[in-house]
Amino acid sequence: MRVMKFGGTSVGSVEALRSVKQIVEATTTQVIVVVSALSGVTNRLVEMTRLATAHDTSYEAMLPELVERHRAIIEAVVPRESQGSCMRVVNTFINESLSSSLGLLAANDTLAPEMAEAAADAIVSHGEVLSSAIVACMLPRCKPHFAPAFIHTTDDAEGRIVDWADTERLVLKEFKGDLTRVHVTQGFIAADSRSGVKTTLGRGGSDYTAAILAAILDAEALEIWTDVDGFYDKDPRANPDAKLLPQMTYEQAQALCDAGAKVIYPPTIAPVAQRGIPVWVKNTFNPGAPGTRIGPIPSDSQVISD
Ligand code: ADP
Ligand code: ASP
Ligand code: MG
Repeated sequence: MRVMKFGGTSVGSVEALRSVKQIVEATTTQVIVVVSALSGVTNRLVEMTRLATAHDTSYEAMLPELVERHRAIIEAVVPRESQGSCMRVVNTFINESLSSSLGLLAANDTLAPEMAEAAADAIVSHGEVLSSAIVACMLPRCKPHFAPAFIHTTDDAEGRIVDWADTERLVLKEFKGDLTRVHVTQGFIAADSRSGVKTTLGRGGSDYTAAILAAILDAEALEIWTDVDGFYDKDPRANPDAKLLPQMTYEQAQALCDAGAKVIYPPTIAPVAQRGIPVWVKNTFNPGAPGTRIGPIPSDSQVISD
């Protein structure tokens, strides 16, 4: 089984989603597809949260834009016979669930900080719920899953952390022995193990969701599908001379992630490194490119130091 995570740009346009469909359909083993929100949507949701918290109802005008962004994509990538039901899901989540969470923030001056934080997490969670609904409607015969049912967090002195014991139990219950070939779920979103209140794994956290699933299910590989050809020695967008690293050790990848390489969210590496699961960084827009393999291998000093 492989876990394939598709980031925001990889699900953010019609062209990207068509490529996602081809990539998933080209697989022959069992796969869990983990998706981020459509590119830019989490930022919009964060902005709407800010406005609602400031009792500025201009967030309301952003709701129809959000419906429109998802509608245009559904019309292009979802089979005609499923478009109506997919649109009903999108409308319900935006016009009922999202709108009421924003309304709660906007109407209350005196929300306790934990309540305000819970409302903010519930609001930003909508991005992945919406994108995963589209991907699940697009991929034939796939099985949709709701990540907060099995990715659980708890709080310790440092702040929010994954509740590994609870998550392991729930992930095994959700997926073990299920022979469905293609599963679809959300990255980033989770729930508190005691209260069930929605939480998130932090910005960029979809990579981490995918790593948690790969580790617990002992996947043969974790694939991070993004918008560049692989892991480079520096950000290829800012540095035209950046060099692609065809292979790296977990330690090399962790060091670059810790130094700010945005391509992988830093907590992602540890769970897969502990179990020796290889990580591939691949380009959704150029799937034929070999990408980067991160694994328990000696560094290719030639490539790293060139
Ligand atoms: P996704 O939405 O797929 O999760 P991100 O935007 O989080 O994508 O990460 C991909 C981006 O990371 C690339 O577009 C690239 O600009 C940036 N990046 C920063 N450092 C690196 C690096 N060392 N190698 C590759 N990409 C990098
Ligand atoms: N959608 C979330 C974010 O923008 C999580 C992710 O993309 O990994 O941070
Ligand atoms: Mg990312």
